[in-house]
Amino acid sequence: MPELPEVETTVRGLRQVLESVRLSRVEPRRADLRRAIPADLRQRLTGARVIALSRRAKYGLIHTDRADTLIFHLGMSGRWRIDPSVIGVHDHLVIETDGGHTLALNDPRRFGSLDLEPTDSLETFPPFASLGPEPLSDTFTTAYLQAAFVRRKGPIKALLLNQTIVAGLGNIYVCEALNIARVAPSRVGGSLSATEITELIIAIKDVLTAAILAGGSTLRDYATPSGELGYFFKQWRVYGKTGEACPCGGVVLRRAEAGRSTFYCAECQR
Ligand SMILES: [Zn+2]
Repeated sequence: MPELPEVETTVRGLRQVLESVRLSRVEPRRADLRRAIPADLRQRLTGARVIALSRRAKYGLIHTDRADTLIFHLGMSGRWRIDPSVIGVHDHLVIETDGGHTLALNDPRRFGSLDLEPTDSLETFPPFASLGPEPLSDTFTTAYLQAAFVRRKGPIKALLLNQTIVAGLGNIYVCEALNIARVAPSRVGGSLSATEITELIIAIKDVLTAAILAGGSTLRDYATPSGELGYFFKQWRVYGKTGEACPCGGVVLRRAEAGRSTFYCAECQR
């Protein structure tokens, strides 16, 4: 499943073919993904010029000169394909640009979404309205997280997955960051010291930044040989490593709760 770094690398890859170009053809190929695709999407986007691309949490944002922003979410299985040789049954939106590129949003399981919102009111777009700060932003600080954890009895892992506390963190990166910071996933959030919170924040920023860098810096690095944007192999410390060695020498354990697996090391994470 694409997490924040995959969405960020996707946005960076798309920027290289979409920024400053005009969308000469926009073709939604079905009426809905997880929710309905706006019926006027083709009309509002055709002929528009892309002025910038950005990301909020796990959403990619394509801003146009018509004061509209196309908002995409990759769901479980979504990816953009650049200049695909054929358009397939799972390509649900096809865009051609006056720069000569064809882009296809491919999503076999259709848990993703496409929305078109006025750029100046994105903050009130329902999925964005209650989001916490971006983990890579300067507002994600020890003081902020300390205040957010005050009197919180929930386990730290659940608090970090709570999108109103911090935006865009998913299971993989939370497991990895907790291991790097040597904090047990079951610790009560409010029990963490300022030093532990600071180390956790550094770990979160480091693991996300490393994953984004692994995505590469040129279009060739972002896209697979088949032109697909969105997924990159990662070398995890604990995620999916049940029974293998933690970098500390301990053994990686797995605990399942609420349909989600937690990977951790009882040796170094306290
Ligand atoms: Zn360990």
